[in-house]
Amino acid sequence: MSIRYRYRFTRGLVLKVLFPLYMLIGAFAPSKKEALQASIIRMNNLLIERAQLNTRKLLLLMPHCLQVDKCEIRITTDVHNCKGCGKCEIKDLVQICDKYGLELHIATGGNLARRVVSDVRPEAIIAVACERDLSSGIVDVFPMPVYGISNERPCGPCLNTRVDIKKVEGAIAMLTGNDGTS
Ligand code: SF4
Repeated sequence: MSIRYRYRFTRGLVLKVLFPLYMLIGAFAPSKKEALQASIIRMNNLLIERAQLNTRKLLLLMPHCLQVDKCEIRITTDVHNCKGCGKCEIKDLVQICDKYGLELHIATGGNLARRVVSDVRPEAIIAVACERDLSSGIVDVFPMPVYGISNERPCGPCLNTRVDIKKVEGAIAMLTGNDGTS
């Protein structure tokens, strides 16, 4: 069995068997639900790291709540509408994706995210969202490899969320084998 197939099989067990079991436990212990979702994301990410994918076509899928709520520019249709003012991390994400030649899309929900995935047809995805949306999204599109990065929520859920750009760059380097120095 090849390394990739073995990791895909193990991801299947984590996402299709362990995840529903964890969510069942979470239904009886709601305070533990987010930690359980986070542990599924960690296991999934570890397996993707070990699969050594060397992806050529990578999609970055970001949640709309990363955009500052005061910004009225419509970036869901085209992220390049962003004026690069730097008030949110959309500016950095656009620069990074242009530098590496990657697809960057902003999704306002699960349906739009699924449509972007089917339009772009990437080999792998880096997704940023809350633990709930990330874990369910990763399960939804399996066997597509999705590396999940949890957003930061200094203003609470779904409003002016943040992402650690260093984590995004690290994930790009890991998935493409390109750390930006070549
Ligand atoms: S960086 Fe772009 S999306 Fe963010 S507030 Fe500025 S113009 Fe709007």
